[in-house]
Amino acid sequence: MSATDHPPRGRRAGSRSLLVAGAGIASLTLAVALKRAHGPALDVIVCDPGLEAGAVRHRGRAYAVAAGPRRMYEQLGLWPRIAAAAEPMRRLVISDSRVGDPVRPVFLTFGDGTEARGEGEPFAHMVEAEPLVGVLLDAAREAGVRLVAAGVRAAVPGPGAIRVSLSDGSEASVALVAAADGARSALREGAGIGWVGWSYPQSGIVATIQHARDHEGRAFEHFLPSGPFAILPLVAGGELGHRSSIVWTERSADVRALLGGDAAETLAEIERRFGAELGRIALEHGPSAHPLHLGIARSFRAPRLALLGDAAHVIHPLAGQGLNLGLAGAAALAEAVTGALRLGLDPGADAVLRGYEQARRFDTVAMAAATDGLNRLFSNDSLTLRLTRDFGLGLVDRMPGLKRFFIGQASALRGQTPRLLRGEAL
Ligand SMILES: Cc1cc2nc3c(=O)[nH]c(=O)nc-3n(C[C@H](O)[C@H](O)[C@H](O)COP(=O)(O)OP(=O)(O)OC[C@H]3O[C@@H](n4cnc5c(N)ncnc54)[C@H](O)[C@@H]3O)c2cc1C
Repeated sequence: MSATDHPPRGRRAGSRSLLVAGAGIASLTLAVALKRAHGPALDVIVCDPGLEAGAVRHRGRAYAVAAGPRRMYEQLGLWPRIAAAAEPMRRLVISDSRVGDPVRPVFLTFGDGTEARGEGEPFAHMVEAEPLVGVLLDAAREAGVRLVAAGVRAAVPGPGAIRVSLSDGSEASVALVAAADGARSALREGAGIGWVGWSYPQSGIVATIQHARDHEGRAFEHFLPSGPFAILPLVAGGELGHRSSIVWTERSADVRALLGGDAAETLAEIERRFGAELGRIALEHGPSAHPLHLGIARSFRAPRLALLGDAAHVIHPLAGQGLNLGLAGAAALAEAVTGALRLGLDPGADAVLRGYEQARRFDTVAMAAATDGLNRLFSNDSLTLRLTRDFGLGLVDRMPGLKRFFIGQASALRGQTPRLLRGEAL
């Protein structure tokens, strides 16, 4: 299958057309959902200079896909294809200690009856990004989404359409642009939308680890003084038989010293934090370090432009919710556009974009505040804070009702849940 389609050269302006800038997981999901719902009645274009490389550029990354987004993939008929690369997270074990502590007291466990719907549905699956993006690209082509390996240079809104110029010299006039061009979104800046946020003095180090013992669907989050160290279960495989992804938060100033040595030294640093529970370990992929930020766009919309994914919000990865927020945004935007099209209205109209923003703003701000607060509470070595948080975690552990509430938050099944996340058709 060819990597891209022909560019949208010389197409007529249309109120039944949408251009998605950026071919990440949330934006491809939006494109597939809309094209499946409307077929030839809606023209959907996805453009990204990275499309030339296909899904390979996502190798080594894995995401905790919450129960809500998984139901959306089921509704879109994609979950059976994704499932081969998805490991159910059945238990989450949380501990609070220092590196090198001989024992890591467990303060909180999720699982065994606190699942998303109480019907044995895991609250999340760990899904590897390369196969997930591969499935989404195939589904986009099958549905008739036009994939263009070029970036958006400019987008100028007019009365009935927004005119988009691409880096390959082509132009298109569409009713709406979904700007999913990442945290440093040029489209957001071009539209004059402000950004509120800051950088953490921390980096997120990600790697794929092979280990000798089965994780049995358990995820571990060890809160260490420099930040959380998460071990997240992946599908079995590799020479040692079992695999997990790690997301290791460290002070950015220490990253070079920790990862600058040879492979054996890097593995030894990982082993000190990974612990011995899963037996012998080996590095399969990585590590790679990503500076961490928090940021929210002052608005999620401008005339004929909707911000999606990291272009709209970036949060601390300690709860694995960044992509899930983007997927909830994709579901909400697909619902708003579909509602307008079914009534014969303009999908790029202000009222449609206002509806999208209202559906997502509160949840997004709440999640950003929650992850920021948890990071401040845990990423330090203050004895007083440590005693307080450990007492708090112990209390939550003994209260099934509260645990179900937290699982609801982590499953992206809260607040104004868009239809697709509830497993309902658009
Ligand atoms: C260490 C770490 C661990 C994480 N773990 C999790 C997790 O477990 N679960 C979770 O839900 N989230 C997690 N996240 C968050 C998640 O990675 C991001 O929220 C998600 O990848 C954002 O996707 P996106 O498509 O919005 O942006 P990006 O992935 O940044 O994609 C933007 C795309 O836009 C393209 N682009 C740029 N400019 C243009 C242009 N002008 N025109 C067209 N295209 C353009 C780029 O080529 C790129 O493909 C983690 C983040 C970090 C840092």
